[in-house]
Amino acid sequence: MDLQTTIPEPNRHKPYLHDLALRNSEGSRFLPFNEWQHISRARKFLQATSPAPRFPTPTTPSDALSLPAGTHQWKAVERLIAIPQARSVIHRLLLQNVPRKTTNNGGCCNTDETAAHLVGACAYSSSFRAQYMPKWTTLGKAIAPVIRHEVAKSLASLPQPSPPLPVILPAPLPLPSLAPDQWLVLPLLEWRAFAHPSIAKNSRTARDFCTLWQVASSYMINLQWLARNDRTYKNDQWSACRFEAAFITQMDKYGLALVSCSSQLFYMFKHIMLTPSAPSNPPHAQQAEDVSPSSRLPP
Ligand SMILES: [Zn+2]
Repeated sequence: MDLQTTIPEPNRHKPYLHDLALRNSEGSRFLPFNEWQHISRARKFLQATSPAPRFPTPTTPSDALSLPAGTHQWKAVERLIAIPQARSVIHRLLLQNVPRKTTNNGGCCNTDETAAHLVGACAYSSSFRAQYMPKWTTLGKAIAPVIRHEVAKSLASLPQPSPPLPVILPAPLPLPSLAPDQWLVLPLLEWRAFAHPSIAKNSRTARDFCTLWQVASSYMINLQWLARNDRTYKNDQWSACRFEAAFITQMDKYGLALVSCSSQLFYMFKHIMLTPSAPSNPPHAQQAEDVSPSSRLPP
């Protein structure tokens, strides 16, 4: 890795790029912004940084959702199954290395724009996701019998003596509401009921569910960041309808491509997660198309 040891001259037309350089604790080495897309280089840089950047672990415990145990947390970010743009945004948000406003220069909700605020407690972003967790909870309850059936069938096919057939899942399903500090790391939080080794090993549906969760949750956070940028830099305020239309358009394209089209999960995900919350007020097609990356960047 060709790390630079001197800070380059800020680009006259894009001064914010200078602030986005990822510095180590000594401030003597940094990774330029345009290098962040190279995962291996970013990993080497982060591992060489001492002490490692603090990972914003949620303070609110949950029996149903938890960060993967025994794994370096930054590796979990790298392994996240996500659209590349969404993974990059999450990485930057977790590092607190994005352009943010303070109360002195127009921060939202009369507070400093921390990443945890922008993705969690902010009234603007939270207005978009009222139905997000309720829909996932509905999907989880609907797909649980299928997963239990697959696990039982898999275990029954094992040579004797076979382990006892599971009658209940190893953890509860998440509640329809989340604490504000859980949203920032949402794609990294595992559904313990479905990600448990005894379940995931024996159920294709459980593994596909966890994949869809990561892809959809990371993109949902990405959309929140895009909506924030449009409001902050273009005075373009998203409606909940527009947000939902953008989510559905992209997940219909990328999310469903990861699941067998003949599986029950495919149809349940499509009908529960990709169905507009307000059928009487369908999202406008043009709004769904207006998610080009070029309009998503800070000025
Ligand atoms: Zn806010």
